[in-house]
Amino acid sequence: MILGGFQKLTLIDYPEKLASTVFTVGCNFRCPFCHNPELVNLRLAHNEESEKVFFEFLKKRKDKLEGVCITGGEPLIQPDIIDFIKKIKKLGFLVKLDSNGTRPDVLKKIIDAKMVDFIAMDIKNQPKNYLKTASVETQFIASKLSASILDRIKLSVNLIMNSKTPYEFRTTVVPGIHTEKDFDEIAKWLKGARSYYLQEYREGKILDEKLKKKTKGKKINLEKIKSKIEKNFGKMGIRR
Ligand code: SF4
Repeated sequence: MILGGFQKLTLIDYPEKLASTVFTVGCNFRCPFCHNPELVNLRLAHNEESEKVFFEFLKKRKDKLEGVCITGGEPLIQPDIIDFIKKIKKLGFLVKLDSNGTRPDVLKKIIDAKMVDFIAMDIKNQPKNYLKTASVETQFIASKLSASILDRIKLSVNLIMNSKTPYEFRTTVVPGIHTEKDFDEIAKWLKGARSYYLQEYREGKILDEKLKKKTKGKKINLEKIKSKIEKNFGKMGIRR
């Protein structure tokens, strides 16, 4: 596993659990609004934490922490992600997996084996604007499977919605990228999902600094979007 580090304690990354968050390095998307640019590109990686250090830490916290949140980058592009999850579970922790949904093949194995206790999948945008929003408009390059990225995303959504594993979908809402209309389409697509969250975009360190010009002075009313589409979901919330 290529780890970019870990946060010893989080009260927010894993819903209602005391957890630690571990960050994997490398992502197959290039979302301009990404707040973890150092985790996206392997070449920018520094502060690399070895797996050994992470597991030594976990062993010492067995009685204090309830769960581990695995996030990135995109954890599912790591070739040894399944063994990594198994090792964490063996220590008795709950596992929450964050994913961009581009590896339904790996996700299916994880869901079928009931390996994780919670899945959070990013929904970057409505299908028509998805690849543009994630800044990937060509065929998925990290795998030989032939399905397009969007087909993979849709497959992951279906796998998650049809699984018994607790989950959430969430969208970081970026003024200048998203419009209110996009959320009508997202609601049609994800209709019936158990939970969907809107995450407010915060300006700060982002992957593509040029985006700041595009977002400047623009606002999207998250409450308005929520009140319009929340009937489509079991639960819907806003995170700021
Ligand atoms: S925000 Fe986008 S680029 Fe950043 S880690 Fe998530 S999927 Fe990758």
